[in-house]
Amino acid sequence: MLDNLIREGVGMTSRRTRERLIERLQEQGIQNENVLEAMASTPRHLFVDEALSHRAYEDTALPIGYKQTLSQPYTVAKMTELLLQHVKHRGRVLEIGTGSGFQTAILAQFFDRVFTVERIAPLQQKAQKRLSDLQLKNIQYRHADGHQGWSIGGPFDAIIGTAAASSLPEELPEQLRDRGVLILPVGESVQKLTMIRRIGDDYSHTIIETANFVPLLKGVIT
Ligand code: SAH
Repeated sequence: MLDNLIREGVGMTSRRTRERLIERLQEQGIQNENVLEAMASTPRHLFVDEALSHRAYEDTALPIGYKQTLSQPYTVAKMTELLLQHVKHRGRVLEIGTGSGFQTAILAQFFDRVFTVERIAPLQQKAQKRLSDLQLKNIQYRHADGHQGWSIGGPFDAIIGTAAASSLPEELPEQLRDRGVLILPVGESVQKLTMIRRIGDDYSHTIIETANFVPLLKGVIT
């Protein structure tokens, strides 16, 4: 998909380095071939500062400034796999916590439209530049506190949170379309990756696994 943007032969971006990451994701249980393909072809080294780019294909979270991190590849792959398994229609997805924009780039390859919210303006601006350089045009950006979701962008087929809420923000499930799916880490000292499915006005909750995300914070930084 975005493969042509990865320069072959340069150590950190070589096919072998990326193959090793994909093998590791498979060992951890990621099975969806389309997700594995997107993880292999999306140039993660462009989402971190150059000084860290040699570590971009390790299965680890990496710092992106402002005390935030680019999520671990396993986490991105797992959340994407869950969404694709459970959503009925790949129309609109809302992402809370744009960060580096890496998860956004993955979502943009599977959903018709991505709505992404970030509270730290400089991170949002960098992400927006990277994603437009990658020619991903189906993304809308908002600088705001994502606790309120993005009501006029919705209703959404899927909502994904990439920072952990201390408790479930009330307004998010309401912005799901019927049969829509929300995946969000919830908790403080112990976080649980939680999936909520809307069926009519009923919401089913499933705990997927424990997680380790940066916290979902209130307010915005300009
Ligand atoms: N998916 C991103 C994860 C970045 S870390 C990536 O892989 O790069 C989580 C991000 O959520 C941070 O950028 C942080 O600033 C943002 N965030 C935290 N609380 C938020 C809130 N209330 N609203 C919007 N973004 C928030």
